Amino acid sequence: MTADLIIGIDLGTSNSAVSLWQDGRAVLIPNKHGKVLTPSVVGFDDDGHVITGQAAKDRLQSHPQLTRAGFKRYMGTDETLVLGQNSFRAEELSALLLRQLKNDAEAWLGHPVTDAVITVPAYFNDVQRRAVKTAGTIAGLTVRRLLNEPTAASIAFGLTGNRECKYLAFDLGGGTFDVSVIDMFEGVIGVCASSGDVRLGGDDFTEAVCQWMLEKYPELSEHQYQIRPLLLEQAEQLKIQFSQSNQGSAFLRWNDMDLHWTMTEPEFAACCQPLLTRLQKPVLQSLNDARFSPDDLDDVLLVGGATRMPLVRQAVARLFGRFPRHDLNPDEVVALGAGIQAGMVMADKALDDVVLTDVMPFSLGIETTKRNGLNYEDGYFLPVIERNNFLPVSKLQTVGTVADNQKIILLKVYQGEARRVRENIFLGEMEVAIPARPAGEVEINIRFTYTIDGLLEVECTYQGNPKVFRLVIEKVPGQMSDEQIAASLAKIAGLKQHPKDMPENRELLLQCSRLYEFLLGDERAMADYITTEFEQALNSQDFRRISTVRQNVVQFLEQYKGRTE
Ligand code: ADP
Ligand code: MG
Repeated sequence: MTADLIIGIDLGTSNSAVSLWQDGRAVLIPNKHGKVLTPSVVGFDDDGHVITGQAAKDRLQSHPQLTRAGFKRYMGTDETLVLGQNSFRAEELSALLLRQLKNDAEAWLGHPVTDAVITVPAYFNDVQRRAVKTAGTIAGLTVRRLLNEPTAASIAFGLTGNRECKYLAFDLGGGTFDVSVIDMFEGVIGVCASSGDVRLGGDDFTEAVCQWMLEKYPELSEHQYQIRPLLLEQAEQLKIQFSQSNQGSAFLRWNDMDLHWTMTEPEFAACCQPLLTRLQKPVLQSLNDARFSPDDLDDVLLVGGATRMPLVRQAVARLFGRFPRHDLNPDEVVALGAGIQAGMVMADKALDDVVLTDVMPFSLGIETTKRNGLNYEDGYFLPVIERNNFLPVSKLQTVGTVADNQKIILLKVYQGEARRVRENIFLGEMEVAIPARPAGEVEINIRFTYTIDGLLEVECTYQGNPKVFRLVIEKVPGQMSDEQIAASLAKIAGLKQHPKDMPENRELLLQCSRLYEFLLGDERAMADYITTEFEQALNSQDFRRISTVRQNVVQFLEQYKGRTE
């Protein structure tokens, strides 16, 4: 059982969470602080040790150069994120966070964890999906499956069985808004359309409250830069108060000034109004793409921490003319779904019980030319597989030659939605040799096949010729090469970790707790004493003390070697 253990991870932009299938249900695994949500923040402390989660978040405002949040946005790009003396790719920062989640899960379970199901936004493209897998690899995790976040949420809400239903997942997180229309038919859960706003989330509501607070004390505006971090913290608290009560207050002492704010519900509503209005468009867009009306929906599922806000819930109710489902904690549902999925993969039932299909979140196509008077102008996009198709998908497109005696066709493959290819992502190209004939006489068949693993195969044939020209696109821009991954592994292994997080110390602590469970009476008390002493030494970060205590621990464990296995 433990050998095949798979955990489910919601790797969020603001918060991440881990869960596991246990005794017939998914349970959330608390981190070392006992919390189920771990802020997706990574940084370095003043001694250059890697810090993650809440410890890093606490320093986000005070040490912005040494701390980083929101790196999920850069997954699958070559963007360099600088942290102190080091620079990282988003995959590497995600890996540091994943490693922490893995370590915390191991400490809670008392077993090593090697495999995971990780969720990704439905709109993540191929490159971004591969980047998540790579982050897992760097963190020492085998990513058994990537699962779309809305699909995970629908599994958590219990959309299984052989029913036929249609749902909309309304996911308002910290910095992003994702809407997905989910269609379940004959046990198959499919995301049939997705839309959203990558620049809208709960943090914008906090920002709006922060602005309001500044307006109350105009004299603060010249000190904006220094006071902003403190104000944001207060604004976040103020916003959260409105999830429970109909007024909020904040207090801050700054430079001998006592600053007080009392916000009424109408004031809060006025602050939020422009943001609430922006929720509408993606909802309408996704319903339109799916060709559904709000009445076709069986339910609306609330996902993401910001949907805890009553104002957001009311806005949703108004949009759909009904109350959304909120019987699960919205910021935990994605992780729960990932845990259920992990359970299904473990039991090898993932494809039996509930067949989960995914949809193509983007379109794939080729470059084409357009006639412009007598001339032909290239640079236009011709979609072959359009977005929102169920996976796997295979489509055929036939094109003709445009020039007389053309001997070669250069097939350029792109991903994206824009009319001009230069605004889309270039994926690869191949040359196809064709017989020289008058323009339009050679008909070329282009077949695109996109698999569930995100592999694109392009096959090209032309009439009267059995030869198949084939292009398989695995390596796409923004993707890390094997050498880069190896270099990242070495780089991350070389970063200073808190002694508690070092693999050799964690392994000893695990052995200690296993021994404690095994022993009884005085021997057990001794195991407790030794473990406590070791933990205290680790916390002191005094390496000489740690080394002495570690020797005692090893000796102690040595006595019981062979007995506990
Ligand atoms: P993500 O999926 O982007 O990682 P989450 O789903 O964890 O993010 O949502 C984080 C957002 O939820 C933050 O903006 C936070 O302020 C907001 N949030 C969390 N709890 C509450 C609450 N009780 N009331 C209002 N907003 C909340
Ligand atoms: Mg989320």
